[in-house]
Amino acid sequence: MSWQHRISQALNTRREKGQFRQRQVNQRGDARTLQVDGRQYLNFAANDYLGLSHDPRIVSAWQKGARRYGVGAGGSGHVTGYSAVHDEFEQQLADWLGYPRALLFISGFAANQAIIAAMLGKGDHIFADKLAHASLLEAAALSPATLRRFAHNQPDSLVKLFHSPQDDGEKLVVTEGVFSMDGDCAPLVELHQLAQHHDGWLLVDDAHGIGVTGEQGRGSCWQQRVKPELLVVTFGKAFGLSGAAVLCGVDSADYLLQFARHLIYSTAMPPAQVCALQASLSCIQQGDELRERLQGNIAQFRRGAGQLGLAIQPSSTAIQPLIVGEENHALRLAEVLRLQGCWVTAIRPPTVPPGTARLRITLSAAHRQEDIARLLEALHEANRR
Ligand SMILES: *Cc1c(COP(=O)(O)O)cnc(C)c1O
Repeated sequence: MSWQHRISQALNTRREKGQFRQRQVNQRGDARTLQVDGRQYLNFAANDYLGLSHDPRIVSAWQKGARRYGVGAGGSGHVTGYSAVHDEFEQQLADWLGYPRALLFISGFAANQAIIAAMLGKGDHIFADKLAHASLLEAAALSPATLRRFAHNQPDSLVKLFHSPQDDGEKLVVTEGVFSMDGDCAPLVELHQLAQHHDGWLLVDDAHGIGVTGEQGRGSCWQQRVKPELLVVTFGKAFGLSGAAVLCGVDSADYLLQFARHLIYSTAMPPAQVCALQASLSCIQQGDELRERLQGNIAQFRRGAGQLGLAIQPSSTAIQPLIVGEENHALRLAEVLRLQGCWVTAIRPPTVPPGTARLRITLSAAHRQEDIARLLEALHEANRR
């Protein structure tokens, strides 16, 4: 009875606040379009920034890999799940990003949890950007280390944390490269200098930067010429697949192999998927044209939205939020956009801070000029209502 009561109460609270979440079944979809309930939409909600999730070269690499290696790894990497192709791809990633080592993880969420759980203990300190991803803040909250958050993208606020009284523990500064809900970029140079100055380390989660920014798509750190001690890249966004890797030094990699439980007690990524990731990496390395097309779409959107007087944010990336404020208002706007054939997600608290519910518009290289124009028309119409 009390379990039942607790659950229904939590559900009711969510409903009352306009925060109730539901999944939508989509019949099919790619970076550009989405089919829901038999209706076709333009997709402005995916993270498939380069449109690689349906790239025939990558699909075929996965198929070939499955024929050669089967469909599953058959065990943890610590048992028999670590194949030649895992080994090769880790080295490719390390070379590409200029690190001694890379370790594959099944997801970005698992990688972040594993690093924070393995690297930090009682008496240590995590200084995280206020808007860092749930997987980072969640891990930090569960850690015996103390978590303190600094004001979003404000190194001055981080300085204060370093200067506040604290015992001797190790200090880890945590940020995203490109922020997932705002699309703005972290001041990595300043954050890294501060961390180094206080004998701390920097962890950058570049889920939304890798593949998209920096020379050859090497991401935010490469672009800002910063080499954090720990770099997490994920493959669920621009790579078009899923999975993640941690880039780090030799000792850190060996350490994580001893103590990262998400790695040790979990089945390794299917080798066929690693084959697909290798194909995706090569598309990204040769992807200047895709990145230019994406930049063109971003510029077109920002120009148009500015002319319409929409409250666009200072983001030069594929993530273009329109902050609306109130939950139900964001939901209504998303609904109006859908009626006009544009699929956009309303993002509400607790994913974003209270009072900043928003439409999270994401653009892709797969969008055409006329798609962006249609989105702008739909926004104009929604705004007018
Ligand atoms: C998506 C995302 C993750 C989680 O990655 P998955 O591979 O999807 O689990 C972690 N961090 C950030 C910033 C993300 O946007």
